[in-house]
Amino acid sequence: MRSDLRERLLRHLKCQFKTHEPLAPHTTFKIGGPAAIFAEPATLQEFVDLFRLIREERASYFYLGHGSNILVADEGFDGVVICAHGELCRIGKSGDQVYAGPGAKLLALTCFAAANELSGMEPLCGIPGSVGGGLWMNAGAYGGEISDTLTEVDVLTGDVQLATLARDDIGFSYRNATALRDVLVLESRYRLKSGVRMSIYREMRRVWKLRREKQPLEYPSAGSIFKRPPGDYAGRLIEAVNGKGLRIGDAMVSHKHAGIFVNFGNCTARDMTALIREIRRRVYAKFNILLENEVRPIGFSDDPFAIET
Ligand SMILES: Cc1cc2nc3c(=O)[nH]c(=O)nc-3n(C[C@H](O)[C@H](O)[C@H](O)COP(=O)(O)OP(=O)(O)OC[C@H]3O[C@@H](n4cnc5c(N)ncnc54)[C@H](O)[C@@H]3O)c2cc1C
Repeated sequence: MRSDLRERLLRHLKCQFKTHEPLAPHTTFKIGGPAAIFAEPATLQEFVDLFRLIREERASYFYLGHGSNILVADEGFDGVVICAHGELCRIGKSGDQVYAGPGAKLLALTCFAAANELSGMEPLCGIPGSVGGGLWMNAGAYGGEISDTLTEVDVLTGDVQLATLARDDIGFSYRNATALRDVLVLESRYRLKSGVRMSIYREMRRVWKLRREKQPLEYPSAGSIFKRPPGDYAGRLIEAVNGKGLRIGDAMVSHKHAGIFVNFGNCTARDMTALIREIRRRVYAKFNILLENEVRPIGFSDDPFAIET
């Protein structure tokens, strides 16, 4: 980042921030270099002021949720990382709806719903992201997606305008939310069904157990690396090209779940991108299928997952 831009940003920032903040600890992969500026707005006003400053100064920025679906470059991110804090992580109930700030944990939202005898969030239990990241990705599992119970979401547009989008205007599909691509997700609201607390907890425990059995939770990862190709599973294709257990440096395809790649110790982004490209190459060569990444690369100058086809 140019030093004059950096100086101007730091002079005008009104929220809590750090400089040269290592990003690896902010990701579930535990990979990646530092952010030039790591800003933590704690109120809506701080958030809007921060984003206005970023847009006025034409600084590059990246919105970090809980870092469970990103791969950060070893060089880090040379811009402003925005990470919601304080009031922006609130969860509550108003009338017949539950609301959540963008930085709230998905797990906290599922637990809040259960504690209030509200059903509909159980399939999301155990997805280690934030509510904002969950909506941006349309996170889901075990037959449910976060969009199923959403009614509306407040957003901040690229020209720094606050707006509210109704669920049906967002264009949700498998791991995609079209209208959220170029906006920042703020508070969202959900309408849930009333349920019996014990049955809700029972279902949440069942989902947790399935996750523990099927996923390599003992290693840092970002969950599934690739989206499910139409009519198939990335894990099946990866197994079919002898990908299970394949290792480059400290990046390894999990033995337990071939769709999940793990950081086996001191993995770098370079190791991980090399492994991802190798698996994409093998699958493309054998099946003529180009696996699409679910994990978002951050801080790379080119597409680090690109292969020759
Ligand atoms: C062990 C493990 C298991 C997982 N299992 C599942 C699963 O079952 N189902 C599933 O769908 N996912 C799963 N994931 C992936 C991940 O948890 C989800 O995609 C989650 O929704 C990402 O949320 P996050 O807050 O961590 O987002 P981040 O990783 O921080 O960001 C992901 C993307 O969302 C954007 N983003 C985040 N917040 C906002 C916001 N407020 N406004 C605008 N953009 C935003 C970021 O800029 C980035 O492009 C798993 C991950 C792990 C590590």
